[in-house]
Amino acid sequence: KAKETGRNQYHFFTQELNKQARLKLELERNLRRALINREFEIHLQPQIFSKTNSIAGAEALLRWNHPKYGFISPEIFIPLLDELGLLVGVEAWVLNSVCSLAKKLTDQYGRLRFSVNISGSHFKTGNLKENIYLALQASSLEANFLEVELTEDIMIEHVEHNSEMLKELKDIGVSIALDDFGKGYSSLSYLKNFPADILKIDKAFIDQLVNDQRNSAIVEAMIDLSHKLGIKVVAEGVEVASQLKHLKTIGCDYIQGYYFAKPMPIGDFENFLSHSDKLLRVINNELN
Ligand code: C2E
Ligand code: MG
Ligand code: MG
Ligand code: MG
Repeated sequence: KAKETGRNQYHFFTQELNKQARLKLELERNLRRALINREFEIHLQPQIFSKTNSIAGAEALLRWNHPKYGFISPEIFIPLLDELGLLVGVEAWVLNSVCSLAKKLTDQYGRLRFSVNISGSHFKTGNLKENIYLALQASSLEANFLEVELTEDIMIEHVEHNSEMLKELKDIGVSIALDDFGKGYSSLSYLKNFPADILKIDKAFIDQLVNDQRNSAIVEAMIDLSHKLGIKVVAEGVEVASQLKHLKTIGCDYIQGYYFAKPMPIGDFENFLSHSDKLLRVINNELN
């Protein structure tokens, strides 16, 4: 009996694997078409100054609007794009689009910072420096209105070469953010070689912020250390007012999360900017 159950489970398991493998194959085939049919979109999620509740800028997040499956998560299609060798090209497109939008919006609203996620492939072999340079040139955006988000795995290999590369990026004048901090094997010692301007604390730490004292002590220490190193801090995935209040008291500089806004299409973000005065007044009232 047990043996039979085992075999059924095994059968189910291989069927499931086959299904997943077929789906992956289908998506990979579709990805090439997606580029031609312009199925990719950029969504923007606001980042808020915690002191004033005003808008500091936004993070650009890639979306794939698949004709059959609708929006597919970047967690799924970014690794596929990478495997197919298409990710660097797509990120270059994101850089160009975000810079030209940022130029338009900063001309209209003043200083705002727009951040773009950059993959390890782009950083290591993808002419990142040139692509950033070209996007800034084409848009005439001021370099310090652009921020690139990198994850720590970049710092794990080839530390020497990578810190050289980071310095060159800083010379261009863009800001550098260390994304998802605390998610992987993050070590505070990376900060020694990583000339980050901004540290983004991973959502996992924010989720436990209010209920778990050890966790909140760690977050507080991350913020203090960052400030001692001249690094500003963004909290990712802030969903409720209690988290926001706590982050304000421990001096977190910027807030990003569903509490203020989800990632939204560009048109909606422009709307959000133009109505932000009213919106942020409401939030201020809620907090008091
Ligand atoms: P990320 O860079 O850490 O982006 C933050 C993710 O957290 C986004 O997921 C965002 O929608 C989500 N998020 C923000 N606030 C909240 C919240 O309050 N609650 C919850 N539950 N989630 C929140 P998204 O858009 O699905 O992107 C996932 C990841 O895909 C990104 O994580 C990033 O690593 C990657 N990604 C997106 N666009 C690009 C890109 O152009 N290039 C590369 N290399 N990676 C990208
Ligand atoms: Mg990011
Ligand atoms: Mg992140
Ligand atoms: Mg993340």
